Amino acid sequence: MKQICKIDEWKVIEDHLHPEDNRLAESLMSIGNGQMGMRGIFEETYSGDTHQGTYIGGIYYPDKTRVGWWKNGYPEYFAKVLNAPNVTGIRVFADDEELDLHTWKVHDFKRELNMKHGYLYREFDVTSPEGKHIKGKVTRFFSIVNASIIAIKYEVTSEDFEGEITFQPYMDGDVRNEDANYDEDFWMPVHHEADKEQAVLTMRTRKTEFDVSAAMANQLVGQETKVEDVANEKEYVDQKHTASIKPGGKVSFYKYVAVTTSRHFHKDELADKAKKQVTKAADTGFTSLFKQQMEAWERRWNHADVTIGGDTSAQQGIRYNIFQLYNTYTGEDALLNIGPKGFTGEKYGGSTYWDTEAYCLPFYLGTADSSIARNLLIYRYRHLEKAKENATKLGMEGALYPMVTMNGEESHNEWEITFEEIHRNGAIAHAIWNYVNYTGDTSYLPEYGFEVLAEISRYWASRVNYNPRKGKYMILGVTGPNEYENNVNNNWHTNRMASWTLEYTLSVTLFLERNHQKRFVELKNQLGLTEDDFDHWKDIIQHMYYPVDEQLGVYLQQDGFLDKDLIRVADLDEQHLPLNQNWSWDRILRSCFIKQADVLQSMYFLNHRFSLEEKKRNFDFYEPMTVHESSLSPCVHSIIAAEIGYEEKAYEMYLRTARLDLDNYNNDTEDGLHITSMAGSWLSIVHGFAGMRVEKGGLHFKPFIPKAWEDYSFKINFRGHLIKVSVDHQQVVITQEEGSDFAIFINGEEKQLPAEGEITI
Ligand code: BGC
Repeated sequence: MKQICKIDEWKVIEDHLHPEDNRLAESLMSIGNGQMGMRGIFEETYSGDTHQGTYIGGIYYPDKTRVGWWKNGYPEYFAKVLNAPNVTGIRVFADDEELDLHTWKVHDFKRELNMKHGYLYREFDVTSPEGKHIKGKVTRFFSIVNASIIAIKYEVTSEDFEGEITFQPYMDGDVRNEDANYDEDFWMPVHHEADKEQAVLTMRTRKTEFDVSAAMANQLVGQETKVEDVANEKEYVDQKHTASIKPGGKVSFYKYVAVTTSRHFHKDELADKAKKQVTKAADTGFTSLFKQQMEAWERRWNHADVTIGGDTSAQQGIRYNIFQLYNTYTGEDALLNIGPKGFTGEKYGGSTYWDTEAYCLPFYLGTADSSIARNLLIYRYRHLEKAKENATKLGMEGALYPMVTMNGEESHNEWEITFEEIHRNGAIAHAIWNYVNYTGDTSYLPEYGFEVLAEISRYWASRVNYNPRKGKYMILGVTGPNEYENNVNNNWHTNRMASWTLEYTLSVTLFLERNHQKRFVELKNQLGLTEDDFDHWKDIIQHMYYPVDEQLGVYLQQDGFLDKDLIRVADLDEQHLPLNQNWSWDRILRSCFIKQADVLQSMYFLNHRFSLEEKKRNFDFYEPMTVHESSLSPCVHSIIAAEIGYEEKAYEMYLRTARLDLDNYNNDTEDGLHITSMAGSWLSIVHGFAGMRVEKGGLHFKPFIPKAWEDYSFKINFRGHLIKVSVDHQQVVITQEEGSDFAIFINGEEKQLPAEGEITI
């Protein structure tokens, strides 16, 4: 745990350089625009420890798998999020001395992420080894108005230096992933051009053959400016812009970059498209682009903000998480998804995990237009054929979605995860229910949803085996969400979600039969579904095996759970924690310790199916054995704790998600941010503290406020209504900002919420 940034409502401020924690600061200061993003690296050369990371959505590399013992069914490759060409670099010289904050004397330094307006700002006051004293101010943003554009303003003032300041903006394609399995170069050069006006670099990924073009246009404002010495090499282009400066004088340098990729344009036109876009950006100018950026972020916050009164640290935490989620995924591009590290690091391959459906989807449902959550579902619909191939490859029927993917193919190879963590199929089915339940958009079912549900159901029906001795269906050899147990039998969560999927699919079958008869017949024929399939599914639902212990009154995480030595985390010597860094894997697997919500995960997903008593008993039993070593864990616990009235526990768990990265809670933020788990802190407030649920089309709240806070508020988009919920220790106020009269439920009581009106309780 380490906090290197200052607490502020709207900013993340590093007020002095942390050379030993520079990677941590770089992760924290990441910015992006849903299409691409970048760690908070410096534009100029930095010879200290740094991880120069720029990432472009959907551009990946199938890195050759590295495993000791190959198992049939493994994918051939591991999809790597690619470190892309460095397009923001600007070398800076005072005469012939190159600015480098690692070797120059730093009198003052500040790096600041402005979340309200979506930009990164830096200022420094430095003296060179030869004694030139200058100051710098740098602003960089990734436009959310035109997601191809990056704009940088680099201002240098002189304290006592008289001479020439040179800016050498460059774009460099010779970039490697730090986590490449075989230290290979993933990029090859395609095209380069540079003159005094513009420069373009096009690089191609090996094997996947994505082309990425970047064009830059630069402008220097100052005395006696000139452009000279253009470098035009196959993986590298630059220009040199020089101005003279005197003590007290100032020069301002502007770099505009446009990035285009073959995901959006034909390869032949990529460079031209980038040039046109960059010319337009430069013509618009930094000031106007910056204004547009600030206004666009303000509009976004107007729907997505959560305010917390009386606790600035909590306020910063939630805004940070919302900000970084929107830096990663904005939802306009149905081919993109939400990688666990977003555009902030390389450690996790692939862009899509079950995290998207289980954690992020509800966040986007609440804070954005419903088309965004729909796009997340359509992403999986598009991968249905690959999911069917995956199931076939493993000897099953129907569709098994991958645990980790970039393009629909499984790209992760650890048998206990790839083959066994099949509960992900349940999360993908559940997301369809969640979307339809929240939005009321049943048109999704005949159009896309039913096919996915039917193929997932088919998979479950082929994955169960009937045990005649018990007269029950079993699911053997799985890993539940708790990855600290592998190859277990009858993981309760997996069995529960499998059976629930079959139930939901059958109910959608009935719905389609009644309401979309023609389409239903078409789908039934297309999918080759028969009454026998439906009967088999019904039989599985009726005879699914669920491990329970009547005496304890709890559902058992898996058949053998009670054979374990049951110890509370609180009774462990603290030096053992985190277990994954201190214990052998073998010891972890045999222990009772739980990495993340497992039985409780179903209680969150299928919330309406369980009584408060059941939730309480299971929470009391499992939470004390849970180490929360997945960042996805605390939020589910926070939500259930809130529901069963454990307000302090709910708040304690919330705190573990809310500032996970800002406080480097798990000591691994230098590798990148935990983007998907950030949605968890929003869920903890909205589903947890405010108790929001949607039941039978009705919007319900059951709010409480943590003692440490004075008040909190959030807004949600719900079926054409924009609603603000404000809670303090005296009252709850629900305001309708957009939309017509409708009924909502507060603490179970129906209330009429007028258009542009409010209800106070
Ligand atoms: C968790 C998984 C999760 C993955 C990516 C793992 O540590 O156990 O549930 O999908 O991280 O966030």
